[in-house]
Amino acid sequence: MSDWTIEKAVEHYRVPRWGGDYFSINGKGNVTVSPLRAKGATLDMVQVIEAAKQRGLHFPMVLRFQDLLRDRVVAINEAFQQVMREQKYPGIYRGVFPIKVNQLCEVVEEILEAGKTFHYGLEAGSKPELVAALALHRDPESLIICNGYKDESFIRLALLGKKLGKQVIIVIEKLEELALVLKVSEKFGVKPQLGFRIKLQVKGAGKWAASSGDDAKFGLTARDLVEACEILKQHQAEDMFQLLHFHMGSQMPDIQIIRRAVSEAARYYAKVRQLNFPVKFVDVGGGLGIDYDGTRSTSESSMNYTLEEYCRTVVQQIAEICEEEKVPCPDLVSESGRAVVSPHSVLVVEVFGVSEKKGRLKNVKKIAKDKLAQNLEVLLKQLNRRTRREVWHEALRIREQAETMFSLGLLDLETKAIVEERFWTVAEGVTEAYRNSRVVPEEIRELQFSLSDQYWCNFSVFQSLVDHWALGQLFPVMPLHHLEKEPDRWGTLVDITCDSDGKVSRFIGKNKGQQTLRLHRFQNQSYWIGFFLVGAYQDVMGDIHNLFGRVNEAHVFLDGDEESGFYIEETIEGRKIGQVLQDVQYDKHELASEFKEQVTTAIREDRLKPSEGMNLLEIYEKELEEPTYLKF
Ligand code: PLP
Repeated sequence: MSDWTIEKAVEHYRVPRWGGDYFSINGKGNVTVSPLRAKGATLDMVQVIEAAKQRGLHFPMVLRFQDLLRDRVVAINEAFQQVMREQKYPGIYRGVFPIKVNQLCEVVEEILEAGKTFHYGLEAGSKPELVAALALHRDPESLIICNGYKDESFIRLALLGKKLGKQVIIVIEKLEELALVLKVSEKFGVKPQLGFRIKLQVKGAGKWAASSGDDAKFGLTARDLVEACEILKQHQAEDMFQLLHFHMGSQMPDIQIIRRAVSEAARYYAKVRQLNFPVKFVDVGGGLGIDYDGTRSTSESSMNYTLEEYCRTVVQQIAEICEEEKVPCPDLVSESGRAVVSPHSVLVVEVFGVSEKKGRLKNVKKIAKDKLAQNLEVLLKQLNRRTRREVWHEALRIREQAETMFSLGLLDLETKAIVEERFWTVAEGVTEAYRNSRVVPEEIRELQFSLSDQYWCNFSVFQSLVDHWALGQLFPVMPLHHLEKEPDRWGTLVDITCDSDGKVSRFIGKNKGQQTLRLHRFQNQSYWIGFFLVGAYQDVMGDIHNLFGRVNEAHVFLDGDEESGFYIEETIEGRKIGQVLQDVQYDKHELASEFKEQVTTAIREDRLKPSEGMNLLEIYEKELEEPTYLKF
């Protein structure tokens, strides 16, 4: 009898550690989401998925909880305001959302709407992002910050916004850009608001640390900054210098590094102010982390600080240095992206099969006359805590012997299969004998991994979890239902791409994570797995490897008038086969007509009956309008 409980499930999957007050598990064993934390309703994810399915969506699907997105915008703005009040900081906070972190129109619109009262603005790092920002941004008090390398037309676009009365700040990333900005703005007759990105000496940490330090791609050195100031003076344009910017890299895990970076940047600000440049803003960039693995540590998928500590560190460091240097405190800008959008979306995938190492031979008569198979059976009987390691070594030896005999033609296929079956039975017994052992030898740990099941999931890692594939970033993953029952299998998740990289075999857990995930035995029941905190970067950075396209989406809103507590405002169907083919330069009409020509030839040559030919054509043409993922 299992002593598994819902509380154990919550603890095992570390839900409160990464899910905060947003995610939990209810008495039915289903994962829940509370988009407004304690201030609003709690939804059963299974009900949300069922509703999305009723609206015609298939797996894989992304569920976006729009209220959760709004909650994050409010939380970050309020945290800065609260700390500023506490510290009696004489400036204001003007955050911006970096569009690159999630460019989807519905996401950016929701963020702007939620941030209205805080005059929350946008950051654009490219011309297309700026084109979107200029149209969506309507608040003259909020900022548009333009980062990234710029050409003449990028600068012209920014000035166009300025002409419309928007506060558009062009951040100079390289000294050479300054002359171009001055030239274009003179030509256009608009005085620009400029920011300067500085290259800090403090080196960041984590997967994106290369954004800072001496070898960073962007930013001005102290020498460049002095040159820039001189150029502005020569143009009598000191008042154009409005913002000092730095960015340490995304997902900064360590608050001490953030503290040092803010302190160095504040010193730059103070020195520039003392040179009589009326800089108004210090922009601390992005980097505010998300505790994906819930370890509260400086591991790459975690952070050792809270939102409040982050805000306090920024505000305090800047205030202290301004006081020391006797310069006025600047208004503060931050460009947090990940911390705003990550938690609002959940990727839901469906398991459609499993491969177990220790499969049973169901249709073979298992009378093993062979000595090797019999020896394995004897070994199994001898297995206990004292003999477990020796038994394992002996099993390995027997299998090796069987393989040699098979390759010499001395073992028939059926006996080889029986030896294999018994070998994995011994292997499982050995790992079982190590359960709850404090010290598990390396070879047994490897064995535990190779004994784990592979759960086949209908999705593409390359499309939907690109940071996991490319950078090994961990995301919380767990079954979305059946959690009232003990998950008694350990498995990895494999996707449907034809690529051995297309899998998830690192999961959050103690220390540096674990290679397998605890799952329920798959017996053709519906089994849905959720990947959490995937709202940042994953949506648009994924690629169409194997031509698996963008997945279905449902936008979920809380609504007290609905019996279920929510409604799905919008569903967006994933890309169809014809559409992804168009993305790689096929013309779906041309494809259909080429296929038709082959069918016609086959009919003419009597290889197909006309009715069969028309049937084939219909199937082919219908497939072009179908989703790229599997449909069960
Ligand atoms: N600002 C700049 C200049 C960036 O390059 C980035 C991303 O790396 C961000 C802001 C967003 O960072 P994060 O998502 O860590 O908040």
